[in-house]
Amino acid sequence: MMKSILSRKVVGLHKALGLAAGAALMFSCESKSKEEMAPNSASAVPVAELTTFLATSTGVKAGDIVYNEAQKSFILEGDVLITAADAQERMAASTGRAAQGEQWRWNYLVSNTYVTNIDYFINADVPADWKTATRASITNWNAVNGTKLFLREVTSSSAADVVVNLGYADENWIARAYLPYSNGRPGNTVTINTKYNYLSASYKEFTMTHEMGHIHGLTHTNQTQGVFITGTPTTDANSVMNATVLPWQGFTTGDIKAVQTIYPQ
Ligand SMILES: [Zn+2]
Repeated sequence: MMKSILSRKVVGLHKALGLAAGAALMFSCESKSKEEMAPNSASAVPVAELTTFLATSTGVKAGDIVYNEAQKSFILEGDVLITAADAQERMAASTGRAAQGEQWRWNYLVSNTYVTNIDYFINADVPADWKTATRASITNWNAVNGTKLFLREVTSSSAADVVVNLGYADENWIARAYLPYSNGRPGNTVTINTKYNYLSASYKEFTMTHEMGHIHGLTHTNQTQGVFITGTPTTDANSVMNATVLPWQGFTTGDIKAVQTIYPQ
């Protein structure tokens, strides 16, 4: 799932945290069932310590910072969310430790039967610019060398492994996707929140490339969900699988190494 927060408070928060001012766009993702999710390890730093860090770095009073366990997020002044993982990363960066940005994979991967031809069907009602972003994202993944991973667009939903569809929620997520299943099938749905149709083409392409990463089993580089992919860089801040979205500028070497490692040719 990709989250967007658009408020003046967030601009201030992100300046304070050393991030680019503007929209804070964050992803998260879902598995088929919550029971399949890995135990939360995003908040190894105690909540109280992170609360103090957020108060100090943002100027928001500690009493106005609440930790929501269900969302694994801090809520500042009632309406600004920051994930525990992000808070922890910012805290680590500010204290001189290396910022996390490592490649992680879901506990289940796509089996050989499906990974060489993951078939995407784009619902007819998906807006043209999201369709363009979806097709560009398929091309992005297929351009990675040294991996058997291959995605295709199909014209029939019944033949598809993955359906790209629309949803609407007055919430701060832009798109979300399922992770692979225990039977080796890829995640089966990417849902786009039409609330964010206004995003520029570059953000849409980053979003769809990110969501496809979830479909074939990559989790977030700035969290610790699933299994660390050995041999990938320990710092990968511009990874497409980072929870903070960027304008699309291509894969990092870590992104490429991750997919080559989990799906070698
Ligand atoms: Zn995500």
